Amino acid sequence: MATQYKPCPGCGTQNPGINVRCTNCGTVLPISPMPMQQVPRPPGAAPAGAEKKIAAGICGIVLGGLGIHKFILGYTQEGVILLSAYLVTLIIAIVTCGIGTPLVFIPTVIGIIEGIMYLTKSDEEFVQTYIVNKKPWF
Ligand SMILES: [Zn+2]
Repeated sequence: MATQYKPCPGCGTQNPGINVRCTNCGTVLPISPMPMQQVPRPPGAAPAGAEKKIAAGICGIVLGGLGIHKFILGYTQEGVILLSAYLVTLIIAIVTCGIGTPLVFIPTVIGIIEGIMYLTKSDEEFVQTYIVNKKPWF
């Protein structure tokens, strides 16, 4: 690591950063903390939140109606709605001895469609739509 130097305000001598006083004239050197390094996002790196895209997309497709992909994105309300819809349609399917089974596919299909939509978006689009704008459905 290269030694940081700071110039003396009195005589201009470059002093090692750890010095409190100038080695040349004894002037108290200004406290100059290490400048905060701005770390720009390296080109090609995923923006914050993009790491949820794959997990949410796969959960949407595989677990569809359970709303897991909603919870991953922080959409608690929507997740509960989807999960409730799934459970209600499941109960209807059971009490109707299977006649209502097609209803169960409604929340499942919603999950699949949303999962596919997540995965087909670019990382930037995904973050903009679902992390920044918090688009609740689709
Ligand atoms: Zn000096």
